[in-house]
Amino acid sequence: MRKEEKDLDFKTKVVHVGNGVDKETGVIKRPITMGNSYRLPYDPTDINWSSADSNLYTRNGGSNQKYLENRLSSIANSEDTIAFASGVGALSALFFSMLTNKDHIIFSNITYIATYRLLNELFNNKFGVETTIVDTTNIKDVNLAIRPNTKLIHIETPGNPTISISDISAIAKLAHENGILLSVDNTLASPYNQKPLCLGADFSIESLTKYINGHGDSMGGSISGKKEYLDKIRQQAQVNVGAVISPFNAWLIMRGSTTLALRMEQHNKNGLKIAKYLETIDSIKFVSYPGLKNHIGHEIAKSQMSPGFGGVLSFALNGGHDTHNQFIDNLKLITSAVSLGHDESLIVFIGKDDERQCLYPKEFNNGFFRLSVGIEDADDLINDINQALNSVGLFNS
Ligand SMILES: *Cc1c(COP(=O)(O)O)cnc(C)c1O
Repeated sequence: MRKEEKDLDFKTKVVHVGNGVDKETGVIKRPITMGNSYRLPYDPTDINWSSADSNLYTRNGGSNQKYLENRLSSIANSEDTIAFASGVGALSALFFSMLTNKDHIIFSNITYIATYRLLNELFNNKFGVETTIVDTTNIKDVNLAIRPNTKLIHIETPGNPTISISDISAIAKLAHENGILLSVDNTLASPYNQKPLCLGADFSIESLTKYINGHGDSMGGSISGKKEYLDKIRQQAQVNVGAVISPFNAWLIMRGSTTLALRMEQHNKNGLKIAKYLETIDSIKFVSYPGLKNHIGHEIAKSQMSPGFGGVLSFALNGGHDTHNQFIDNLKLITSAVSLGHDESLIVFIGKDDERQCLYPKEFNNGFFRLSVGIEDADDLINDINQALNSVGLFNS
């Protein structure tokens, strides 16, 4: 990032950083470069085929990827960023590059499902990486889990799907006192609301598929952090594992990210309004949203999230499995689908059969919803929820 870019406001950065005038055509938006190979120099024998520095082959890095990486670094206040084909591509690149046989990793009990599978089933069984699942909302438990061979602590905050809050700066301090690195999956907050690197984390991970793209029409992921680590990840995992982002998806995410600040303002407002509304309904068993005063992590969330708490919340109805399914079936505006952070509101029912129920707090054990509140009018969404509650006989206020 150029020096003067550092001083720009977030809203300006998402419009300008990474954009520029195309030298060949003079067009003021960066074009999509879909070619995959570059003309080699006269004598190619000295080329490092794992290098991400030269125009060689698109798996080593393409121009649309680089423009996007510049923007993401700028909004994460990061030295460097690598964009990948998906959020999971970014997570597996991080774990693959930073962990080796007999190393130990501590990770949050509440994480995206693929993080759990990667670490709990694949990295330990296939590669002999030692793993410990910890309730990272409790710093004492994190401390107790540390071993001499612990290399990385990976937390997710807010945690998907129960919306748990872990204290980034406290865990960063603990990690660094013990010579351990900290990575934070920042997807549910987005860099607009939370900047893990400014709170002491070493890596900030985003699923670009979610808020940063924001339109539900492409996939991507990113790791931001210090250049010394990211160079290693680029060489080991981008080039040789190969979850490289396509130029088209990088371009789409670049376009989507231009409105990130505006969209997040609306997600933050709608998220809080709908969480507060759900709290008033007797037939709703609980609401988990970090912006609510009764959320157990509210004070920590307030200290590390600003200006808002995002649009993702979870809640449960008084009623069984069928009631939950019927409620979703009766929604007209809010769509039953996975993913989150889209322009439109999405809801997913996480039932009793979820294998990770034992890792969730008790009140989640009979099934619950994860609701990603979109940027629609909040009252329209509330009316939609009301009529669906009515149709399952649960509307009472
Ligand atoms: C969706 C998600 C991911 C995975 O991202 P993909 O782009 O779907 O691969 C990782 N972490 C969190 C918190 C997510 O919500």
